[in-house]
Amino acid sequence: MSEVHKTVATPDKLGVEMIGIPAGSDVDLDLRLESVSEGILVTGTACGETEGQCSRCLEPIDGTVTVFLTELFAYPDSVTEQTTEEDDVHRIVDDRIDLEQSIIDAVALELPMSPLCSEDCPGLCQVCGIRLAVAEPGHAHELIDPRWAGLANKFSELSDRETSETDAKPDTQERRD
Ligand SMILES: [Zn+2]
Ligand SMILES: [Zn+2]
Repeated sequence: MSEVHKTVATPDKLGVEMIGIPAGSDVDLDLRLESVSEGILVTGTACGETEGQCSRCLEPIDGTVTVFLTELFAYPDSVTEQTTEEDDVHRIVDDRIDLEQSIIDAVALELPMSPLCSEDCPGLCQVCGIRLAVAEPGHAHELIDPRWAGLANKFSELSDRETSETDAKPDTQERRD
């Protein structure tokens, strides 16, 4: 049995579209390698800092992700190696084990497809796009049904005319004086 504590830089982004460990960032590996009859059993954690975007309001979010790994790497010529399909079990190749795909898969599974900055993030206003978390309380737009828009225009024309008529009255009175 041996233990491996190692920090590696990930060559590519690990995670899902909206959140992940960025390329070039550190991934801390805390692993235990155990010799079992059929191969090497790898258990432990991989941990890294994530960067992403809230799927509702698009604000940047960061955090950490830790994944737990349990993978068996079969010895060459072991019964396991000979009786399982190539894709069903990891293999030890030239005395080395390759954990990369296991870590890629585990991190992608662990991270949410739709990350949120907070559980009750109100998202963006569908009309103007403002972040509702920073908008004034009760932020809303008066929306007029397009079928009524023509009528609404007529009303505003009418009220414009009324205002100009009331404006005109004092003038006529002044003239009379
Ligand atoms: Zn948000
Ligand atoms: Zn709005």
